[in-house]
Amino acid sequence: MATNKKKRVLTGSRATGMPHLGNYFGAYKPAIELQDHYELFLFLADFHALNEHYHPEENRLNSYRMLASFLACGLDPSKSLLYAQSAVPEVNELAWILSCQVPFGVMSRAHSFKDAQAKGLDINMGVFNYPILMAADILLFDANLVPVGQDQKQHLEMTRDMAQRFNHRFGETLVIPEPMISDTVAVVPGTDGEKMSKSKNNTVSLFADDKEWKKQVLSIVTDAKGLAEPKNPDTCNVVKIFSLLGTPDEIRAMREKYLSGGYGYGHAKMELLEKISATFGPMREQYNHWMGRQEDLRNLLQEGSRKARGLATEKLNRIQDRIGLIGRPY
Ligand code: AMP
Repeated sequence: MATNKKKRVLTGSRATGMPHLGNYFGAYKPAIELQDHYELFLFLADFHALNEHYHPEENRLNSYRMLASFLACGLDPSKSLLYAQSAVPEVNELAWILSCQVPFGVMSRAHSFKDAQAKGLDINMGVFNYPILMAADILLFDANLVPVGQDQKQHLEMTRDMAQRFNHRFGETLVIPEPMISDTVAVVPGTDGEKMSKSKNNTVSLFADDKEWKKQVLSIVTDAKGLAEPKNPDTCNVVKIFSLLGTPDEIRAMREKYLSGGYGYGHAKMELLEKISATFGPMREQYNHWMGRQEDLRNLLQEGSRKARGLATEKLNRIQDRIGLIGRPY
């Protein structure tokens, strides 16, 4: 029988700081766009965040910032399931079960571990086990699709292998997820032209106040061409950022002004500033609204987490039964 049931897409985000345009175009916007076409499960990946250096109070504030950002940017919790990874302990229980099936050799070839090793970082077991926790996130909720960038392809392949190995050994239990290769999200450049990143101090904040937005936009690095001279739009950081926000006509118009001269970088920066304000101003209001109501944010997250836990409990009962553990169901 044909069914119209929407496919389930699962994606998690770590809360890493004051949200910036890179987070918006690389993470928030693409995730939120999924909610109209799929059954979207979106979780705060707060256990994943623990394997890096963090501070408890910063972690808490960043979690609220991320939730407020998703809501301000249009996530609808009545359409999508929003929950916290840390509120679903079954994720860790499944991670243990899976870890007892994965050969050490496979884990030691994971990109996340090898990259950390190549960078000479202190590697904790959270970094080493990361692909198993990721597999548990996905397999516990029967996700059909998982959006992955280039850096996550191998980890999703490992998830699929874990699921297949489990099903082969214990019978069909776990859904094999497919990668969802989104149209490659371009890297958003920062004010210095490098990848926009909190650690490089080159960000344009998503929800700064007007003064801060202006300061950030004016700090965008350009060459030293004078107002009258024609300029190259292809190499200019202002145009690159404007191109993420403007309509095709607006972008074309700005490019033409660059090429014909008589249009200074200051003019372009003011146009960009207006665009940022028009695009993100209304979202900023929503963001500030939510940030002033952290208790409401917490309740919303808990409500979603309770639903997620209900599903997780059922699934883990089945998994434990398959492998001959008799402690469940509960
Ligand atoms: P971060 O705050 O650097 O941990 O980034 C969180 C997520 O935001 C990443 O996984 C990306 O999806 C997205 N992101 C961050 N910076 C950029 C950027 N400059 N361009 C595109 N996407 C970005």
